[in-house]
Amino acid sequence: MRVRVLGSAAGGGFPQWNCGCPNCRGVRAGTIAATARTQESTAVSADGEAWFLLNASPEIRGQIESFPALHPRGPRDSPIAGILLTNGDLDHCLGLLSLRESHPLTVYATDRVRRGFTEDNALYRTLERFHGQVTWRALEPGREEELVGPHGEPSGLAVEAVALPGKPPVHLMGRSPPDGEDNVGFRIRERATDRVLAYVSSVAAVTPAVRDALAGAACVFFDGTFWSNDELIALGLGGQRAEDMAHLPVGGPGGSLAALADHRGSRRVYIHINNTNPILRDDSPERAAVEAAGWTVAHDGLEIEL
Ligand SMILES: [Zn+2]
Repeated sequence: MRVRVLGSAAGGGFPQWNCGCPNCRGVRAGTIAATARTQESTAVSADGEAWFLLNASPEIRGQIESFPALHPRGPRDSPIAGILLTNGDLDHCLGLLSLRESHPLTVYATDRVRRGFTEDNALYRTLERFHGQVTWRALEPGREEELVGPHGEPSGLAVEAVALPGKPPVHLMGRSPPDGEDNVGFRIRERATDRVLAYVSSVAAVTPAVRDALAGAACVFFDGTFWSNDELIALGLGGQRAEDMAHLPVGGPGGSLAALADHRGSRRVYIHINNTNPILRDDSPERAAVEAAGWTVAHDGLEIEL
């Protein structure tokens, strides 16, 4: 299985348009050791021909252009066989609306995420311009689903969605009670090798379900949004703690680095990194701690072969 990180930052990207935090200012000015990053999206393929995108970021156009394997092979064509959504956050879904140039799309999502994006959304009509423009394939937590090409052809990959601790997207908060299918992770299995990529880019806690999602995976991608719970507050960027936003911080005694210290033997990558997170700095002690524990901090363009 080939895995290519198209975007590694959390919502807003790095730097974020309206953010003057030390990281964002430093990366703009070139005064810190850090690299700009676009918002989270990852491409996977078993054969290098048919590709599946995990999440569709607002920066999808540039992300497709950044990776030649996603370029058209004919006058009207795309190697993108399908798009999988982990949740309904706009930084994971808005890219769908940018793929509106009359091209059939297949989207894999839980029923909950599909409804959140399609119902009461006049903009969605741009993806309903002809019959069959979007084919939704329902992901049910716990059931493995074949990933297929536009004509139903096998891709060599299958996905199991895993319900994870999370919350509904901000713009849908309060419209209906939280639901177990608001936020999922993926176990993407390559049929020929049985190798599994565990993709958990947004998660509020390490629960037994999360451990099950990671078990036996050859490669783990994990929520790297914040280093500490009060990161935004300490920088004067608002009153929300990481836990209020359903993100488990990386650092600290209760953080994912400590909680997953026993999880070794697989390639481990932090993704969905907020622009305030000190692990974005190549020379920070937090980056050193993460790397000493065997983790990689994802950057745009990172490629992994499983
Ligand atoms: Zn910032």
